[in-house]
Amino acid sequence: MIIANSDVMYRHLVQGVIDYAIYMLNPDGTVANWNTGAQRAKGYTAEEIVGRHFSCFYSAEDRAAGLPQLGLSAASQLGRFEAEGWRVRKDGSLFWAHVVIDAIRDDAGELIGYAKVTRDNTERRERELQLLKAKQLAEHYNGELTSMSSFLQAVVSHIPSCVLVLDAVSRQFLLANRQAADTFGGSPGGLQGKTAQQCLPAAVCEFFDRLTNDALRSDGAMREEEEELATARGLRTLRTKTLAFHNTDPRSRYVLFIADDVTDENAAHAQVRYMAHHDTLTGMPNRRLFRDRLLKALDAEGAERTTAVLCLDLDNFKSVNDTLGHQCGDELLRLLARRLPRHLREQDTLARLGGDEFAVVLPNIAERDDVRKMAERLIDAMRQPFEIDGHIVPVSVSIGIALTDTRESSPDRLLRYADMALYEAKRNGRNCLAFFKPEMEAAALKRHEVEMDLRQAIISQQLQLYYQPIMDVSHVRIVGREALMRWQHPTKGLILPQDFIPIAEETGLIHELGAFTLDEACAEAMRWDSHETVAVNLSASQFTNGALVSLVESALVKSGLPAHRLELEITESVLLINSAGNLATLHRLKELGVKVALDDFGTGYSSLGYLRTFGFDKIKIDKSFTQDVESSREALAIIRAINGIGRSLDIPTTAEGVETPAQLERLTVEGCSHFQGYLLGRPVSHGGFAATASLAGPDPAN
Ligand code: C2E
Ligand code: MG
Ligand code: MG
Repeated sequence: MIIANSDVMYRHLVQGVIDYAIYMLNPDGTVANWNTGAQRAKGYTAEEIVGRHFSCFYSAEDRAAGLPQLGLSAASQLGRFEAEGWRVRKDGSLFWAHVVIDAIRDDAGELIGYAKVTRDNTERRERELQLLKAKQLAEHYNGELTSMSSFLQAVVSHIPSCVLVLDAVSRQFLLANRQAADTFGGSPGGLQGKTAQQCLPAAVCEFFDRLTNDALRSDGAMREEEEELATARGLRTLRTKTLAFHNTDPRSRYVLFIADDVTDENAAHAQVRYMAHHDTLTGMPNRRLFRDRLLKALDAEGAERTTAVLCLDLDNFKSVNDTLGHQCGDELLRLLARRLPRHLREQDTLARLGGDEFAVVLPNIAERDDVRKMAERLIDAMRQPFEIDGHIVPVSVSIGIALTDTRESSPDRLLRYADMALYEAKRNGRNCLAFFKPEMEAAALKRHEVEMDLRQAIISQQLQLYYQPIMDVSHVRIVGREALMRWQHPTKGLILPQDFIPIAEETGLIHELGAFTLDEACAEAMRWDSHETVAVNLSASQFTNGALVSLVESALVKSGLPAHRLELEITESVLLINSAGNLATLHRLKELGVKVALDDFGTGYSSLGYLRTFGFDKIKIDKSFTQDVESSREALAIIRAINGIGRSLDIPTTAEGVETPAQLERLTVEGCSHFQGYLLGRPVSHGGFAATASLAGPDPAN
């Protein structure tokens, strides 16, 4: 009874449990009974489920996999089987079940069924799953944070800048990368946790203290400065960015320092700036810096504004280059760059504008005469020849000067004016100075016009040769004629060589003119007596053309004129400072068989050395001596000296510019062997002397 009672009680108890599905299975797996909890959990009523196989609580896949049977087998073998898994409710929905299956045996050990307790753990599992997900997420972020922090650490330690973080209160370094330690001293670990005073030299401590205080004062704003500091790597320029900031704790403050060593960068910038403003060869200021300084000088106030510009040009730089080579030419410019500034004031700027072209800005000029004196000092400074590679190189300089006291003057115009004055100085015989005058601008314009006209003249054959006879001592016998160029301008009339030859030389048109003269003169001479020579003038600038020798050769070949009948007249400018290149050309010309005369001797440098350097066939005494032969003792003395040398070296001398019988007589007595001048015959066009020299059509120039 007691048992029966307890059996009833037990059944009630089981039926009353609603949180657990408790039911029994027969040994074949069919449901034997069903409690309220089972109905609640799975949706079936006892009537519906009792007698059905319990595999209906499994999904089709689990059934196919034999899971229901597996559970029962395990329970029958082990006594109890416990598992979790998805089960299917009557309505087809799934729930997560915790299942315990106990095998029930009778006293003989025979299996009489299974007791099954199932609990719906869906919610718990959800929570567990969420927890798991949260844990995984946390682990993931933690991993990311760890790798981010080691990434940041790697960045900080590899960044080329010095990075330091300082606790504003304790003044201890919380972070210092390797670069910081290399720059300021100590090891990276050595700085961390210490104050600057504990591990760094006094100057560096003072540096950090100052930066820290400044940063704390300008809270939140990034400060940037640059200064020189005696670091562990020597005296370096550091560009520092400093920032004071709060971390999560608003009571504490930190200072971040990022310092870059900009010593090399600054030096490179300075070098670039220097190169942009200086000439690489001489280290002198270049055109750009010159312009800047000139602008600054013109911008000065009041009386200080008076500014002068000097344009300098070496008179014989080209021949230094030609004779001694470009390296010597470069060395000359370098020496010049050292010598000239010694004669200038501190505030003056000597610049190289290009080639052998120099210019000086002289700011704050009190007197025009001061400028003259300074320019004269520069000319004087050149008197002492330069010594280059064992060669003594005499150099002179011509200077053009322009002055202004108005702010309106543009640097370019001032430079142009000085350049025009330089042209004048060069025309006045070089080695001298000239001030700009307004009429020079008109002259420059005219020169430009002439150049344009000259180009046209060559094309439309306005150039013509006139010929002036040269007599021997008999004074009547013509031994040859000098070809002199004339320009018959369609509107301006006759233009003489002195007004266009220099322009042709400057512009390079001289090469065209020279070729024309050679061809024309040789062809013309073929019509003369076979003993008569033709003299053709060559400009020094024609020697710059490598084709000169072949031009002469071709003129001879084309005309058929024997080489000995052609006489080339050169002036000493061709030989100035013994130009090796020009000398070689002269020798090649002589090898052709032509004669070479030294024209205008006695003017210019008239170094007797020229006569030794080259075997001239004739010396032409300049007409200035001829004209003064009667009135000037000096002129006479020079004529005697030249004739003396001519006699000794067996070189005939021609007196140029003989205008009077008295001059002719005197020069004959003095030993000149040939004579040329208006007295004996003016230059005439070739038609003019076709019949007879005495009836020659006169030179329209005279
Ligand atoms: P140059 O070679 O010394 O020529 C002599 C100059 O003296 C000529 O001047 C001639 O007309 C002038 N003359 C001749 N007899 C007398 C005289 O009795 N009294 C005076 N006062 N002058 C006299 P021009 O023709 O004006 O030539 C000047 C210079 O121009 C020449 O000096 C020569 O250096 C140059 N020249 C002339 N034609 C050519 C040329 O075709 N090519 C080159 N490169 N230069 C030339
Ligand atoms: Mg001549
Ligand atoms: Mg002459």
